Amino acid sequence: MFSKILIANRGEIACRVIKTARRMGIATVAVYSDADRNALHVQLADEAIHIGAAPARESYLLAERILDAARSTGAQAIHPGYGFLSENAEFAAACLASNIVFIGPPTGAIEAMGSKSAAKQIMEAAEVPLVPGYHGDDQSPALLRSEAEKMGYPVLLKATAGGGGKGMRQVWSGEEFDEALAAAKRESLAGFGDDTMLVEKYLTQPRHVEVQVFCDSHGNSVYLAERDCSVQRRHQKIIEEAPAPGMTDALRQAMGETAIKAAQAIGYVSAGTVEFLLDADGSFYFMEMNTRLQVEHPVTEMITRQDLVEWQLRVAAGEKLPLEQGDIRITGHAFEARVYAEDADNDFLPVTGKLHYLEPPEESQHVRVDTGVRQGDEISVYYDPMIAKLIVWDESRERALDRLATALSEYRIGGTVTNLDFLYNLATTEAFAQADLDTGFIEKHAESIFHSRAQDIETELPIAAIALLLHKQQARYVATSDPFSPWQYPTGWRLNEPNLHKLTLHLHQQDHEISVEQCSEGYRVSANNKTVLISGELEEDQLRFDLLGHRQRAVLARTDDGFTLYLPNGACHFHEVMPDTGENSAAEGAGSLSAPMNGTIVTLLVEAGSEVEADTALLVMEAMKMEHTIRAPVAGTVDSFYFQPGELVDGGAELLKLTPREES
Ligand code: ADP
Repeated sequence: MFSKILIANRGEIACRVIKTARRMGIATVAVYSDADRNALHVQLADEAIHIGAAPARESYLLAERILDAARSTGAQAIHPGYGFLSENAEFAAACLASNIVFIGPPTGAIEAMGSKSAAKQIMEAAEVPLVPGYHGDDQSPALLRSEAEKMGYPVLLKATAGGGGKGMRQVWSGEEFDEALAAAKRESLAGFGDDTMLVEKYLTQPRHVEVQVFCDSHGNSVYLAERDCSVQRRHQKIIEEAPAPGMTDALRQAMGETAIKAAQAIGYVSAGTVEFLLDADGSFYFMEMNTRLQVEHPVTEMITRQDLVEWQLRVAAGEKLPLEQGDIRITGHAFEARVYAEDADNDFLPVTGKLHYLEPPEESQHVRVDTGVRQGDEISVYYDPMIAKLIVWDESRERALDRLATALSEYRIGGTVTNLDFLYNLATTEAFAQADLDTGFIEKHAESIFHSRAQDIETELPIAAIALLLHKQQARYVATSDPFSPWQYPTGWRLNEPNLHKLTLHLHQQDHEISVEQCSEGYRVSANNKTVLISGELEEDQLRFDLLGHRQRAVLARTDDGFTLYLPNGACHFHEVMPDTGENSAAEGAGSLSAPMNGTIVTLLVEAGSEVEADTALLVMEAMKMEHTIRAPVAGTVDSFYFQPGELVDGGAELLKLTPREES
């Protein structure tokens, strides 16, 4: 076994690898950029080497610097984590050439899977079932389009070098094809330096089910069950679980054996994931193989009680796989939710910020938090905006899902917008409890996930109103040194004095005028022409309330800009609109002509002086590795653009001038 390894990564995965190495008595070397000088992974490692500036291209992607760091510290092996250099065959080869073990598959296996099209050709030859599609070398737009027409719309364009859901576009008809192809190529070129595309039949309701495989260098291969990763936004996983609901032993075995066949076809060694699309009729198709440890590997660890990083280290050191297929047992059910700094209400736009308050749920045998940040750290524009992975386990899916909802409601993050309430809503949606899963889950259940139905607002408003009042009342009695505590609220509001109060709550993108009248039974709350009787008490963050004779519990969490109320069947976010604070920025957002965040202008889509209709795409900018299209909020004339392609813009900067058309 190695005595010292270097981790060529940052954030939660670097911390995750360090933990296992430490348990195994292996010393660790971290690498870090300017932005990560004080990062958690640097603090946890035994040694750390500075490798460059904040942008990944100037640090975490610099193979030579990382190899130098390994040589100078005497690290015998490099764990690449995921992302960055983890699937870079040249880097793996360079490690080999420097006599440093790459903790991952052989170079040839990475190369074989590096291109989605080449991978498909290999899998076709190995008789692994594929989604119908075109994955050839001829890239002329006309040919790609005629292939699409042959297989019939909808189709999916995919960057052969792509990953993380980038460089992908659905195309529903011939008219959309050219624009979608251009956009996918642009995104792919910017993200992966290559714009080769493949075209696939787009399956409308598949599940994403992937198999964890492991191979050693002695010819042994096993599969460690599967993960269902159907719940996605922007084709990116957001909640994953293992095992896949409804999986039969026969299907598990068929998929597992096919996955091993795929791995063996490329001489695989180490941890790998074979991704399949699973159709409602039980047929499954190879999508791609990820030649690294996946973000969602913890759910497999929880149900198999194995440490996959330990397996990777053992296999890389030349040992045999710790278990044979027949010894691998599945116990219980696990979920992973990815906690991100992102705005679910604004198309999941990543956001940045300093985590000035951070309190994860308590870890236990049921709850695991994999994170790379501490209170006070920054979610910056340079890297992925993931804050943590929250992993839960219990004996059944139902109980594990309860654990997930509870743990989400206990997670406290201040300083940035997060997707916690969105995740909670997902976890408490009836359809999710029923495991009615497919990759369109979020779109299909958007109304119940976003809790934007009229009946949700009707129930949430009175609860939010009394929660706020009770909270203010409590704040007057509790003095605490913790500035983020829910008991800190500056308004000296007196609940017992007048018995009629008026307030305005901003909930679900709207302001609501509310009046609350205190009476002997509790409070009479009127909002949107409805009056209900509600009573309740708030103890710390636990709210108990009785609404129309139904007693329930909820959790009230203070967030950066207000509160999140975690109700039994969903969360809602609200804040009080103070009079005279000029709180009227609701018009910003989707149709705004300013940059949603710091980024780079990619391309201008119309010329200055053009007449455009409402919703016309005007320019594309890239921020946090995603393309954002800025569209015209109204019809009018684009007078001028303030920036040219390649220029950097600050979040909030005005991008162009549009004069609205006067309607006659
Ligand atoms: P990436 O490497 O960018 O993650 P994948 O090929 O793994 O891209 O696909 C990501 C997701 O896109 C899948 O999980 C699935 O939801 C969706 N997807 C991919 N191919 C298809 C297809 N042919 N039909 C329907 N959905 C697909």
